[in-house]
Amino acid sequence: MKLKYSDEKHIFNIHTDGIPYLSFDMLDSLGVPNLFSTRYISYDEAAGTGVKGLRCAVMKTESVEEAAPVCRANRDILAHQLGSSLDMELVTDQKHTNYVHVATCEEDLGVATVGTFAMHRQFVDGIVTDIPDALLTVFGGDCPPVYLTDPKRGASGLVHAGWKGTLGKIPQVAVAQMTVKFGCDPADMYAAIGPGVCVDCYEMGDEVYDVFAEKWGRDDADMLLHRYPAKDAEGNEIPGGKYHLDLRKANLLTLLRAGIPADHIAVSNVCTMCNVDTFYSYRGRALENEQVAMMVNRFR
Ligand SMILES: [Zn+2]
Repeated sequence: MKLKYSDEKHIFNIHTDGIPYLSFDMLDSLGVPNLFSTRYISYDEAAGTGVKGLRCAVMKTESVEEAAPVCRANRDILAHQLGSSLDMELVTDQKHTNYVHVATCEEDLGVATVGTFAMHRQFVDGIVTDIPDALLTVFGGDCPPVYLTDPKRGASGLVHAGWKGTLGKIPQVAVAQMTVKFGCDPADMYAAIGPGVCVDCYEMGDEVYDVFAEKWGRDDADMLLHRYPAKDAEGNEIPGGKYHLDLRKANLLTLLRAGIPADHIAVSNVCTMCNVDTFYSYRGRALENEQVAMMVNRFR
């Protein structure tokens, strides 16, 4: 697939058999099945083209009755490509919170369909579990997923980290839940920050700088948000400009401060908006659907 990113560190493996997806090489090496989908339903490497229009998430504008079966069928195919199925799925409804659901009982598996959630799992943006072979699912149109796993304790987590979840340090909330509920030691954990909007593409209002300064402190806000100069029609810099937020750096900082070793963290360098041909992107006005991130709580 044609992706704009540098892969000097070999962060991703690209799979084009079946429904195409990216997987993190670090998680693959641990034997943890994982994926991040694209717009493609299929892709022919030899021809360099594919069929687009994959639907995995029920969008707000769609009828749940029409969209849910289609999205479930596609997610089930992807789940099978990871050696799992939707019967094992734990899925979030995603309201830009930093709430993380702790799933420990098998009755939780496979019960939720997007749009008609089990009550106890509403208003969560992340799930952690120690149920063997559980399939964790989150969605994102520019917001990166953060994958967490602890091979020693047999526990995993997956969170949706848009700017509000990132502000609320949702990866740290998930790490804390895994530590308290499953006895995980962050030193044994691995994390991967999935594809999402890059800092160059992620323009924010001044109020976002203010809330980061309030919640994280001014030093962190200055590190994570930079004002890009405005330009006139000739490209000359003029007063004004907008803040840009570095979501990757913010989530990396959160994971490091939660105690996960730097060499246990993989950070995506793929931007959904820079690659709007391959990915759905809210900001890139490719709004038809969203990517799905999946990970199976399974270890080699
Ligand atoms: Zn970008």
